[in-house]
Amino acid sequence: MTLRTSKHPRVMSSNYLIALGSNRPHHLYGSPRSVLAAAMEECAALGTVSARSPIVTSDPMGPAQRSFANAACVLESEYDPPALLAGLKRLEREFGRRTARRWGDRVLDLDIILWSAGTYTSRTLTIPHREFRGRDFVLKPALEIAPDWRDPVTGLTVRHLAARST
Ligand code: AMP
Repeated sequence: MTLRTSKHPRVMSSNYLIALGSNRPHHLYGSPRSVLAAAMEECAALGTVSARSPIVTSDPMGPAQRSFANAACVLESEYDPPALLAGLKRLEREFGRRTARRWGDRVLDLDIILWSAGTYTSRTLTIPHREFRGRDFVLKPALEIAPDWRDPVTGLTVRHLAARST
């Protein structure tokens, strides 16, 4: 009998709710809205994008000078949370994000909001995203594609959280 072994064990895929934001134009892609449309395409390198929200516009926050474009997508991926975060950060760098300043102007910001497998906590990554429950600019696009997705921490659906935050 031959035993089949693999250096790459088969990983079950799971779904992630990803939030996208941009408030700086890109020299090739153009406006923040076009940046988000392109970024949602590029997310396909990390899995299968099964749902995309419309792109909404929000007012600048904190030190940011320009309005933000925001969107959300559902990504089915075989990556575990730390690997997905690394992939998203690489994508941010490819789009030329330069600032480390919170709320600063940025070409592309990608956050992992929810994960179908539940919660994940490490020094550098927390899922669900710590602050998403009060963020209209995350919940509004998320409502369009994942209204029944339940936050494992509060037990509330995205629909409920969105209704509560407006
Ligand atoms: P940000 O300011 O949104 O770019 O986030 C900066 C850092 O937050 C990242 O480098 C991550 O290490 C950390 N982080 C913690 N939880 C999350 C999450 N759910 N999604 C994305 N980044 C996260």
